[in-house]
Amino acid sequence: MNIRVLGCSGAIAAGYKTTAFLLDDDVLIDAGTGVGDLPLDALAAIDHILLTHSHLDHVLGIPLLADAVLRLRAAAGRPPIQVHALPQTLAALQQHIFNGAIWPDFTRLPSREAPVLTLHPFQVGDRLDLGGRAIEVLSAAHTVPAVGFAVDGGAASGHAHWVFTGDTGPNPALWQRLAQLRLSHLVIETAFSDDEMELAHVSQHLCPTELGRELAQLAGSVDVRITHIKPGEMDAVMAGVQALSSPHRLSALQAGQEMVL
Ligand SMILES: [Zn+2]
Ligand SMILES: [Zn+2]
Repeated sequence: MNIRVLGCSGAIAAGYKTTAFLLDDDVLIDAGTGVGDLPLDALAAIDHILLTHSHLDHVLGIPLLADAVLRLRAAAGRPPIQVHALPQTLAALQQHIFNGAIWPDFTRLPSREAPVLTLHPFQVGDRLDLGGRAIEVLSAAHTVPAVGFAVDGGAASGHAHWVFTGDTGPNPALWQRLAQLRLSHLVIETAFSDDEMELAHVSQHLCPTELGRELAQLAGSVDVRITHIKPGEMDAVMAGVQALSSPHRLSALQAGQEMVL
């Protein structure tokens, strides 16, 4: 199992793409601007999209992806792309994006009977089975309903899990659940520097000091990759992260990195 970072930035600029991961060739985890770097045939191979929440930096690739691959997938007789998310996230997509004003309703195109997208609600705690790959929906604490994911590396890996927190502020429930799992990687956000701690609190994101409090609840020594840093903030955030006395191995996630499970 392979996870490629298509985008891991908290905003855009040249060379910076927002959150998207590709699991193997066919599962997209969040659909930020990083999706746009995939060639058309790779876009057409995506069968599932898992969403952490409804914020634009995580979903804006979906309407554009649907338009890009509709003809190719229809010509090849491929099934609809399944979009998996919380019911509130799916409702937000329907109401605010696929509403005929921002974008056509691709859950009814090219036809109502055989659309390019179908929507599939999940709940925190669900365990999805996507072609034999098990993915657990984890809790998150953000300004809109949000989740994280734990991808089970399977028996060959000793059930090591790749964990992505999604956008989140402090979240004790997450650490209670992770105490029961073996982790290969933890991808956790730190969207703000300590200078912006107040902003981090109101927007329910983490800053390095809060990250330290969160990671203190995680046993062992885990490969921790920091994500969702804004362009221009990388040095300030990572200086704060490196100043933490943490037993974990901390580094900044980079677009293009691959993590093998
Ligand atoms: Zn968000
Ligand atoms: Zn975000």
